[in-house]
Amino acid sequence: MIALSLAEIAEVVGGQTYDIPDPSVPVTGPVVRDSREVVPGGLFVAFAGERVDGHDFAAAVVEAGAVAVLASRPVGVPAIVVEDVQSALGALARHVVRRLGATLVALTGSAGKTSTKDLIAQVLRRKAPTVFTPGSLNNEIGLPLTALTATEETRFLVLEMGARGIGHIRYLAGLTPPRIGLVLNVGTAHIGEFGGREQIALAKGELVEALPGDGTAILNADDPLVRAMASRTKAKVLLFGESDEADVRAENVRLTDSGQPSFRLHTPSGASDVTMRLYGEHHVSNALAAAAVAHELGMSADEIALALSEAGSLSRWRMEVTERPDGVTVVNDAYNANPESMRAALRALAAMGKGRRTWAVLGKMAELGDEALAEHDAVGRLAVRLNVSKLVAVGGREAAWLQLGAYNEGSWGEESVHVSDAQAAVDLLRSELRQGDVVLVKASRSVGLESVAQALLATG
Ligand code: ATP
Ligand code: MG
Repeated sequence: MIALSLAEIAEVVGGQTYDIPDPSVPVTGPVVRDSREVVPGGLFVAFAGERVDGHDFAAAVVEAGAVAVLASRPVGVPAIVVEDVQSALGALARHVVRRLGATLVALTGSAGKTSTKDLIAQVLRRKAPTVFTPGSLNNEIGLPLTALTATEETRFLVLEMGARGIGHIRYLAGLTPPRIGLVLNVGTAHIGEFGGREQIALAKGELVEALPGDGTAILNADDPLVRAMASRTKAKVLLFGESDEADVRAENVRLTDSGQPSFRLHTPSGASDVTMRLYGEHHVSNALAAAAVAHELGMSADEIALALSEAGSLSRWRMEVTERPDGVTVVNDAYNANPESMRAALRALAAMGKGRRTWAVLGKMAELGDEALAEHDAVGRLAVRLNVSKLVAVGGREAAWLQLGAYNEGSWGEESVHVSDAQAAVDLLRSELRQGDVVLVKASRSVGLESVAQALLATG
């Protein structure tokens, strides 16, 4: 964080200072909301949650070295008191990013934000100091907290923005106004809450509407709803994708025998070959998006291709491939799931499993509204068409729909099993797995299927 005095912070957030003997004392450490993350010189933000009230930790965090607490009521220790802590945090972030010399890159989309953000960060940091969203901290609290970790040295600030409804991205882009805005795709994530893909496109497109005239909108040429956002921005438009009209494109896309994408990257400044360390063809689109950002920030095709080829996964449970000593390969993609990512993961499983037995251990895809039955059915069918050896559907009725899809597509009987919960899946797999098998584990976050992957790896 760039150093700001308590007096300056109070002014920026429109707050009252309480119990502060010397308002000229600077905050030098990070701004945090978790009392366990407080370090000396930092500022603690007290949120009053339903179960835990941050204000209760005020004395402890000051004891631990926090300079003050940003709070909604006096707490008996140095505090800046505001009416609404969340807006105050946002105002502080807006103030700080304005003073930074960094270029702000923001990205949104239905699937692949975190994966792409991690790729962008790994490419850009080869060129200059880069700060980026840790994990998926992409909401109205995580975003400003991330932005506040930037320092004077930071050249690139890469921020993931999540939207659960109309107006969310506009709000986030107002806090940390990006110069480069990237929209990955408009899928079906959260479609139940949004009420349709057009609504989702409306919400995600707020990112490019927020860009300045000298900014750049980076759009997926392969996704019609994203491509159409070009008309909603005054910024320059750069397209990525496999389509011929894309400025940053991939040619000769294929999956290596281990399931890793390989392609020839074309940018307006040249062409270079990429073979990724990440698994699954969906990363081609993510890599092209990252390449477009890096191109826009002055990197050559060769530099970008090298960085993409060496990039690993920075966030857990996303296509995490581990080989057990007994030769069973576990692919933990249990972080989350939606129809697009289910299909991509199944295709990666099929590529990795050539000549081996493949298991798809799948659970529910949440938030699909009226499309839930059809989408689960389609995933069950795809498993059959890709010649996956066994489907283990875990959970309630969605799992039944997965199994039914497989049954209807390929008259699958024994090849698919429906189990009630993660423990039952582990018990089954423990007795059935043999050397050389590849097991994909994937479902929506709420299902918590990572426990299956973890149990399988613990017994290896
Ligand atoms: P969240 O909304 O939870 O923050 P996210 O958009 O950040 O999600 P990731 O965490 O990168 O997305 O990936 C979520 C899931 O989507 C993973 O299972 C991953 O394999 C898959 N995925 C990643 N990129 C794509 C893509 N371009 N298209 C479809 N699926 C993808
Ligand atoms: Mg994310």
